[in-house]
Amino acid sequence: MKNIQGKKISVIGAVRSGIGAAKLAKKLGAVPFVSDSGSRQKLQDAIKLFDEEGIKYECDEHTDAIYDCDFIITSPGVPSDSPVLQKALDKKIKIYSELEFSSWFCKGNVFSITGTNGKTTTTTLCGHVFNYCGLKTYLAGNIGYAFSEIALDVKENECVALETSSFQLDNIEEFKPKISAILNITPDHLDRYDNNIQNYINSKLRVFENQDENDYLILNADDKHTPGIISNKKVNVLYFSLQKELENGAYLKNNAISFVRNGINEFTCGVNEISLKGEHNYANAMAVIIMAKLFNLDNKKITQALGNFPGVEHRLEFVRDINGVKYYNDSKATNVDSVWYALRSFDQPVFLILGGKDKGNEYNQIKKLVESKVKKIYAIGSSAEKVFNFFHKSVKVELKGTIDDCIIAANKEAREGEVVLLSPACASFDMFDNFEHRGKVFKEAVNKL
Ligand code: ADP
Repeated sequence: MKNIQGKKISVIGAVRSGIGAAKLAKKLGAVPFVSDSGSRQKLQDAIKLFDEEGIKYECDEHTDAIYDCDFIITSPGVPSDSPVLQKALDKKIKIYSELEFSSWFCKGNVFSITGTNGKTTTTTLCGHVFNYCGLKTYLAGNIGYAFSEIALDVKENECVALETSSFQLDNIEEFKPKISAILNITPDHLDRYDNNIQNYINSKLRVFENQDENDYLILNADDKHTPGIISNKKVNVLYFSLQKELENGAYLKNNAISFVRNGINEFTCGVNEISLKGEHNYANAMAVIIMAKLFNLDNKKITQALGNFPGVEHRLEFVRDINGVKYYNDSKATNVDSVWYALRSFDQPVFLILGGKDKGNEYNQIKKLVESKVKKIYAIGSSAEKVFNFFHKSVKVELKGTIDDCIIAANKEAREGEVVLLSPACASFDMFDNFEHRGKVFKEAVNKL
């Protein structure tokens, strides 16, 4: 455990991770100073807490007071090319992510789960399975608590399932998880990586750069960006695959998932024993099964836990069945890839609510699938016209003003055995506060019927 007693630490961003980092620093005898360019009004809750804890801060702007420090902790929302960080680099001040900082003080086994899609689902499922099997596991990262809030609580034999964004990995130095998992890599957030997918990939690969022969790396054998990326030859690598049988890892075959080590089968369960729907979720489950087996958790208990997992809100969440029409909320599908997986999860005809704030979407990737599965698209949000222009020649598309309008229309048009799915492929900020708000509006509209 590092000694930061008396160290001056500047924290950029009074968001959850920044607040957690400042509190942790203070608890360990350091002198934190939090800087956020947001208004006092916007930051009032954080400011109240800083006042209570005796943590120094500034708001409205970043001043040069930041640079009077031993090092900086930055929040994931602050882009690395922002002037405030650039200036720190010019002054040769070290910049760490909250993840790196917190890891210095965590004695337990850290599981770092990253990837473009599936992080929240897999992290939550991991916590569920481990806790169900009797091994205390905290959830942290983008979900639940910031890592810094719990790092000191985790005992040596306990675990932390850490949802890890690439932004948190951008500023690591010694971060060394016991298990790291890269679920998949597809284009997303490229605006933060100079529109260069290689930069985005490189940042995800950092998750295992410090791992050694005592640690494990879990990779997706089906992902075109992942095989062959292993620059660190020491770490033990295990794969999962939906497509092929493996010698070391987990794979799907004949509707069952097996885990094998050195060719020897150690675990099998049927996909019908897993509560989550869809192939993408079988992939997430395989990553968790590998983790569970690496910790020798009990097979029967693992299967039970996979079966009684309640799922995660806004991720292909079943909402209601009205006269045989099933409504699903997949508001978290903010990119094209997750819509592809959502559609693959249904055999029934789908009424698809698509659109929102476009992030440079390429719909070619799902065109064929949409044509084969979707009966009608309801296009919403600022990208509604883009959606219409792309699909209207081969699929029925209707422009709709609100989600309520979509639900009213779907309720009239969908027949027994069909599905109504919100899986918008876009960000929500054109019409909603965030994806949670969008999902809530969808559920309210469905529950009003
Ligand atoms: P993240 O935390 O990485 O954003 P989530 O678990 O919140 O991932 O899921 C985000 C979206 O991606 C949801 O629409 C979900 O249904 C879909 N999804 C979940 N797992 C996968 C996966 N392994 N591959 C592709 N899409 C996925």
